[in-house]
Formats: sequence, C-alpha cells, structure tokens
Amino acid sequence: MSDDLLKKVISHAKEYGYIFPSSEIYDGLSATYDYGQNGVELKNNIKKYWWSSMVNMHEDIVGIDAAIFMHPKTWKASGHVDAFNDPLIDNKDSKKRYRADVLIEDHIAKIEAKITKEVAKGLKRFGDDFNKEEFLKTNPNVLRNQAKIDEINDKMRDAFNSEDLGNIKALIEELGIACPVSGSKNWTDVRQFNLMFSTEMGSVAEGSNTIYLRPETAQGIFVNYLNVQKTGRKKIPFGIAQIGKAFRNEIIARQFIFRMREFEQMEMQFFIKPGTQKEWFEKWKETRINWHKALNLGEDNYRFHDHLKLAHYADAATDIEFNFPMGFKELEGVHSRTDFDLKAHEEHSGKKLQYFDPQENKSYVPYVIETSIGLDRMFLAIMSSSLKEEALEDGSTRTVLKLPAALAPTKVAVFPLTKKDGLPEKAREIINELKFDFNCLYEEKDAIGKRYRRQDAAGTPFCITVDHDSLNDNTVTIRDRDTMQQERVLINDLPKIIGEKVSLASLLKKLESREAAIV
Ligand code: ATP
Repeated sequence: MSDDLLKKVISHAKEYGYIFPSSEIYDGLSATYDYGQNGVELKNNIKKYWWSSMVNMHEDIVGIDAAIFMHPKTWKASGHVDAFNDPLIDNKDSKKRYRADVLIEDHIAKIEAKITKEVAKGLKRFGDDFNKEEFLKTNPNVLRNQAKIDEINDKMRDAFNSEDLGNIKALIEELGIACPVSGSKNWTDVRQFNLMFSTEMGSVAEGSNTIYLRPETAQGIFVNYLNVQKTGRKKIPFGIAQIGKAFRNEIIARQFIFRMREFEQMEMQFFIKPGTQKEWFEKWKETRINWHKALNLGEDNYRFHDHLKLAHYADAATDIEFNFPMGFKELEGVHSRTDFDLKAHEEHSGKKLQYFDPQENKSYVPYVIETSIGLDRMFLAIMSSSLKEEALEDGSTRTVLKLPAALAPTKVAVFPLTKKDGLPEKAREIINELKFDFNCLYEEKDAIGKRYRRQDAAGTPFCITVDHDSLNDNTVTIRDRDTMQQERVLINDLPKIIGEKVSLASLLKKLESREAAIV
C-alpha cells in the first residue's frame, strides 16, 4: 500500500516535470536525481519559506553561503574523518548491503506496527469511549510489544556506545532478521564504512591533498562563527543559517529522494551561553515543529523521536519524523551540540573562537543548538502528502496535487476559452499584469475541463478562464484547485484574490500568529 504510494509519487514527479533520474539517458546514476522545471520551483519555494522564516523573521539570525570544499583539517576536527561511519553488513546470499542499524530499526518498526494495529482494534471496539493513553498503558499486547522494543533499543544503544560491532551482529541474529531480498540470515560481520567522498586538490600542501566533499553544511558555519560575530557585531544568543549541498556515500541509497548521495541541507546553528542549552533546545523544537505544521500537511504526520544513542558531544537530540510513504522517518534533526565543534576547531586551528560576554564580563566558547533539515526530504514530505486521488460526484476520479499554495511552482494558469476572437490576447494581457507577483502559465490547447485536470495534477492553485464576456465586462472565471469552485470575478481583483491564498507573505503571517500562540 505505502510502497504503492511511493511508486505513484515517483511516477507522478516524473510525469509532471518535478524529478527525473539523473543522467537518465545513460540509465541513471544510483541515488542521484535531477529536479525538473516544476521541481526546481517547488524546491526554491521551500528554500524561500525556510530562509524567510529563519533569517528574515528572526532579528538574531543571519545567513551565509560557505564553499563546499573546506580545508581538510575541518573534517579531522569535526570528527568526520575518524568517526563518520555507518555500520555495514552484507547478506552473503543476495550480495545486498545494508546498514546494520537500519535493519534493526526496520525490525522495531514492524513491532510498532503491531501496536498501531492493536490501537486501531481498541478504537473500533470502544468507539468514542476509547482512551488511547490509558490503552497504551494497560493493554497486555501493547505492553508486551513495547517491552520488546525497549529491550532491543537498550541492546542496540549499548552495542553502539561501546562500539562493539560483534554485538550488533549478534543482535541481528538474535532477532532473526532476514535479508528482505533473499530471505536468508546468512550475514557477514558488521564493518564500519566512512561516508565521505574524497577527491584530490592540486594546490594544497604536500601530504594533505585529499579533500572532501562536505558531508554537512554545519562546519562551514562553525569555521565562520567569529567572522560573522565580529563583522555583524552579534551578541549572544544569535544564529547563522545556511542552505547548500552536502554529499554522503550512503551504503544503501534507496527510497527515492529520501536518501541520496548528493542532497541539500538547510541548517542553522544557534550560539548560546553555556548552561542555557536546555531552554533553547526546547524553544527550537517548538519553533521547528510549528514551521512544519503551518504548512497544513496534517498534524498527525509529525512526531518527535528522541535519540537514544547520543553522539558523544551532544547533550540532547531529537528527530522530527514525518509520516512518509515508507512510514515515520527522520525529516529534521534538532541537536544540542554543546561547545564540541567550536572547541575542536580551536584545538585544530590554534585560533581562539570565544565570545566576550559583556554582562558576565568574561570570555567563553558558546554552546550550540542546531536545527538541520534535508531539503529533499522536505520535498518528498510535501509531494507524498499532497498527492491525492479524489472521487468526484459524477463518479469519475481526479488526480490532484494539493501542494501548500504558497509553495506551488505555478500559481495561476490562464486559459483563453478558444484560440480566436481576441481571447488569447486578453489572456496574455492578464498574465502580463500578474507575472510580476505570481508565476503564471498560459495554456490554450484542449478542452477547458482537460486543462483544469492537467493543472490539478501539476498542483496549480488557480486557473483563470477568459471567455467572450471577459472582453466586454472585464470579468473572468477563477477556479480553485482544492474546492473546484468557480467564481466570476473582476480582472482588477485578481491580484488580491490570488495573493491572499498563494503569497509567501500570507503563509509567513500565519506562521507568526501560530508562534505567538505558543509563546
Ligand atoms: P539518517 O539517520 O536518515 O541517515 P542523519 O541522522 O545522518 O540521517 P543528519 O546528519 O542529522 O542526518 O542530517 C540532517 C538532515 O539532513 C536529516 O534530517 C535529513 O533530512 C537530511 N539528510 C541526511 N542524509 C541525507 C541523505 N542521504 N539524503 C537526503 N537527505 C539527507
């Protein structure tokens, strides 16, 4: 069922110019994708939503755009050279390679699914009287399955914390996890595999000419912390935001744009006074979940997943998970990273990265709260939750991509009813007025009904039809993608009607009032 949805999303994304396999004429390159004519618009709109809300709406956050190549010592300091590894395991029969932790997490997801099923049964049995929280605390089947999950999580955490790869393999065997392809339990040992791509750079001093494609954008922010703080005369707390490409040689790269080898991140590092990390961590958790929920993709589609396996430098970490077609998976991370990164860069560079706090009258290395979201995963979250098959009253169905209007690639499609009588000219006239504010599309081919359907499937929030009356009374028919309601309106009123629904400003205002409500 969910596999079906993912397949539908993939083919829809291709058919409507959102995403193509990379270098497709050569049969594609695994885990790399190209964004097409509509995809690039949606992606840019997601970036604008993130950037405006994080940078423009927060006086204490500024942005940068650092290079993808960084001095190789950066990655030694950050720990990526020594520890940016995934535990890899191969199935000897299918020759397929897996991440050992993902195999165990998928096993846990199956047990979680049993709990969800039990809850659904309870809801059916007790109807309105059903108390989910109570049920989760008392139902014996739920409790048994939850205990299993807790036990597996404990064992996995212990094995990872002690870096005991043997115990991870033992856990896979103990749980009887089989290869999804061959069904066999014939596994190799677990090995560590570094995820960084490396290449050579000619001009770097002898002996250190291996250079890496950055596996995260965050380090570009850390190494510029002092530049921005000093030139921007920033006082703590303040943040630095960045959007950019990151590269990881993922062991298993499947599930479409969920896990790619080249992807984009939108990250923000918030520099704070040591000791205040707990309250800022909570604040950023709230701010970020609110940002997601303002898009109306469904409140139930999100959940927090606190990390059991904390990185040694983190003192708190959570994932914002989204209900993707493959189930709940990480969409964004919120991490309390202490002063680990700045201190490490101080040590490796020999430069001080401190802040003089005038109130405290002393210098310290700031602590950091990080919010890190994958742009491509955000894209997938939006596409997969927006794609709908709707049954219509006349018994037919329509495919509609109910993208948040402010993010839709094309905002308005303008159709002349016929190709003659001056209607195309009138339609172009309207576009010439609207095009400064809204991305418009002109279409004159096929019957109007067919044109509507095509725009529904492409995600265009409004269609405007110009007919013979338009020439006399300056009115047009405007049709709403979601309700399919048609209204006769004055051409002069179009910017206001359209703007209210599709402008980024109206989405940002909605976000701001949601934020005000939680403060
Ligand atoms: P995962 O556990 O899924 O590998 P991660 O914990 O390694 O993810 P982070 O290092 O926290 O991810 O990266 C921050 C964000 O970047 C993630 O929440 C995700 O949205 C995105 N991201 C990470 N790896 C990829 C990838 N290979 N393809 C697409 N997006 C990614």
